[in-house]
Amino acid sequence: KKKALIIGSGIAGIASALRLAAKGLEVEVFEANSYPGGKLSEIEIKGYRFDAGPSLFTLPEQVEELFRLFGKIPEDYFEYTQLEVACNYFWEDGKRIQAFADLGRFADEVESKLGEPGGNVRKALQRSSFIYEHLAPLFMHRSLHKFGTWTNPQALKSYLKMGKLGIFSTMNQANEELFSNPKLVQLFNRYATYNGSDPYQTPATLNIIPHLEFNIGAYFPKKGMHDITQSLFRLAKSQGVTFHFNSKVEEILVENGKAVGIKAGDQEIMGDLVVNNMDMVNAYKTILRKQKQPKKLLEQPKSSSALIFYWGIKKVFPELELHNILFSEDYRTEFSHIFKKGSIYYDPTVYINITSVHKPDDAPEGCMNWFTMINVPNNQGQDWDQLIAEARKNIISKVNRILNTDLESLIEVEEILEPRTIESKTSSAQGALYGNSSNNRFAAFLRHANYSSSIKNLYFCGGSVHPGGGIPLSLLSAKIMSEMISLQ
Ligand code: FAD
Repeated sequence: KKKALIIGSGIAGIASALRLAAKGLEVEVFEANSYPGGKLSEIEIKGYRFDAGPSLFTLPEQVEELFRLFGKIPEDYFEYTQLEVACNYFWEDGKRIQAFADLGRFADEVESKLGEPGGNVRKALQRSSFIYEHLAPLFMHRSLHKFGTWTNPQALKSYLKMGKLGIFSTMNQANEELFSNPKLVQLFNRYATYNGSDPYQTPATLNIIPHLEFNIGAYFPKKGMHDITQSLFRLAKSQGVTFHFNSKVEEILVENGKAVGIKAGDQEIMGDLVVNNMDMVNAYKTILRKQKQPKKLLEQPKSSSALIFYWGIKKVFPELELHNILFSEDYRTEFSHIFKKGSIYYDPTVYINITSVHKPDDAPEGCMNWFTMINVPNNQGQDWDQLIAEARKNIISKVNRILNTDLESLIEVEEILEPRTIESKTSSAQGALYGNSSNNRFAAFLRHANYSSSIKNLYFCGGSVHPGGGIPLSLLSAKIMSEMISLQ
């Protein structure tokens, strides 16, 4: 049997392990942490449970596909429900809307509460599915680095539609053209943050994202987001994949232009191929430091990072759903702070994710588990202690204004995750959530391929390589990578 060595047990590392095991390889995974999942893990503090990182789950069939590879019925191992309300939105002027998953209800809500013609919401989602239909097969499901991708019939069809795919305007421009109410522009601009980008810079092509949330659907795993990695981890173990925790890989061993193994601690482990799930930038700095560096790719601007307060709140707010957004009054200035000034605006958009709404045992009775997050710049050596202290005050006073409460007195437990700790816990360069940003139209072409062009038998998966960050794309990176491996 050929042996694959995988570095990192993030979602893409686990998915890669499964896909290679399904192909009949012997698979060993080496993970620096004491637990699997990377960014997709969980924390527990005094009766409160929080999903540590990702909170939004789309495209569940990609997880299910991994169970089916082994002839399993996914529902027996991993359960999830579709959300009826994708998100609750709040503004400072007292306006509130619910983004219903049902398009008709959402359009009516927007029309009655914000005076925006419901037809514009429909148009936005049609635009989104048009982009998805033309670009997903090309950019999400295939390697961009293989000639065949560019000559297949799907690619030729997409070339003809180039003008309509939003490549030449920004997301904000396209949304301003469509909507009359600035609140709708803001709501649809927010989708840029789903991959850590800036709506005022990123091409309108990223208007593809609402298609995932509305046309395909937003979901919640019944046991929390953490169950995505946990259920896949259990599956991998049951299929004979070996996991080594507390095993930080120090080097990928290369001989005569071929990856032949890895070095972890004082051990050298040999294999037939190596798959790297560690962030690509940090991998070249550390475990590939002796190899030729793809300088241009390494220098690409990174996506934004996040500041999260995990708060145990001793009160139930009935107006809050699983996903809640309290919008900034000046979105453009908020993003110029994140992407141009490298700082945090005093009036940030606040995202509150509360799993206890759907999973009551995540918080004690009469309480809620608030994962309270704002988008922040990636780590460029800012004075984070000061920025975090200021942001905490600003977030609390924003919540107090909008929800008419005294939040400080309700916070029972607190834990913080921020750019520096995101990097130290998962090796993510500059604490970026999604690898490179998509702030320019060439970004898709400037991600690292799923294989090394100079070292044979070395492959890459995860949010920092093609096709990009986020759970769905990280899972696809594993699929694209595994399709490149032949057993000959
Ligand atoms: P990672 O999760 O980055 O894991 C990499 C693993 O490699 C880690 O376990 C690390 O310890 C290990 N490793 C690194 N170096 C070594 C080494 N030398 N030796 C051994 N092991 C090593 N995505 C969504 O889809 N929806 C969301 O709502 C969402 N929200 C997010 C919120 C936050 C706060 C964060 C941090 C991320 C969010 N994301 C979201 C992004 C998503 O979490 C990532 O894109 C995805 O989890 C990346 O997975 P990955 O496989 O690339 O690896």
